[in-house]
Amino acid sequence: MKYFAIILVLFSFLSCRIQTDKPEKELIVCSTSIIADCVKEIVGDKIEVVSLMGPGVDPHAYNPRPSDVKYLNNASVIIYSGFHLEGKMAELFERLSERKKVIEVAHYFDQSAKIEADPGIIDPHIWFRATAWIDAFEPITLELIDLFPAKSKQFNTNYQILKKRVYAISKAGKKLLEEIPIESRVLITSHDAFHYFGKEFGIEVKALQGISTTQEPGVKDVIGLVDFIVKRKVKALFVEHSVSPKAIQTVIYSCKRKGHLVQVGGLLYSDALGEKQKLGGSYVGMLQHNIQTILLGLKEK
Ligand SMILES: [Zn+2]
Repeated sequence: MKYFAIILVLFSFLSCRIQTDKPEKELIVCSTSIIADCVKEIVGDKIEVVSLMGPGVDPHAYNPRPSDVKYLNNASVIIYSGFHLEGKMAELFERLSERKKVIEVAHYFDQSAKIEADPGIIDPHIWFRATAWIDAFEPITLELIDLFPAKSKQFNTNYQILKKRVYAISKAGKKLLEEIPIESRVLITSHDAFHYFGKEFGIEVKALQGISTTQEPGVKDVIGLVDFIVKRKVKALFVEHSVSPKAIQTVIYSCKRKGHLVQVGGLLYSDALGEKQKLGGSYVGMLQHNIQTILLGLKEK
């Protein structure tokens, strides 16, 4: 079904190649809301930036919609995350790169910061290694300057401001999470999206599901996690905005049956931003929200 959807979109894309009505504004199309927000910060409001995936949309399971064709067709440049975050969409981006400017953020991500989830499989949640993620946007800014040379000064200035903010949050976040006693400093979530976050902010990480939400947790995964929680006396688990909380509820119930009370410590943003008006509606806000929520959920009261 997924392949069918990709083929359908590819076909629609190729078949409407000739109707290239030039959009009024230049258009940058990003796969996820996280990338789109970073790009918007850099390019300002003179260039239109759209995200194919809206707030709360899970990128692992995303199937392109027919309306995406219009955006991809009109895009001056397409930017996607990579390391297979976008599942089968990666094939579509590769095909588009044969005739359009397509940038993969993973291509510019510090190779030494990569985390291998399984042999040969790179964990795709690279935006949580906040400093390395924002460093990757330095060459991306240069690529954008190549495309829009008249905006060189503005892009450079905006990028430097964003970089400073992210570096400041990285430093402050690490310090804040140190307030959680070391034995309680463990972050448990639905799917394995927080290893880079753990490295960046100094917190141990565990999850029920693997690095993709398309892998269902098995009974063995639930038992293993429940044993860990009971043994370590973990008091809070965290649900994710873009993932169903059902599996986490099963873990909480199983812990209760073993005589250990654990609760939901709060909601975290993992693979997508939240609604615009919320703190988690921007990349920087998402980092701040997650740090505050983890701190409140795990700190001794
Ligand atoms: Zn994920």
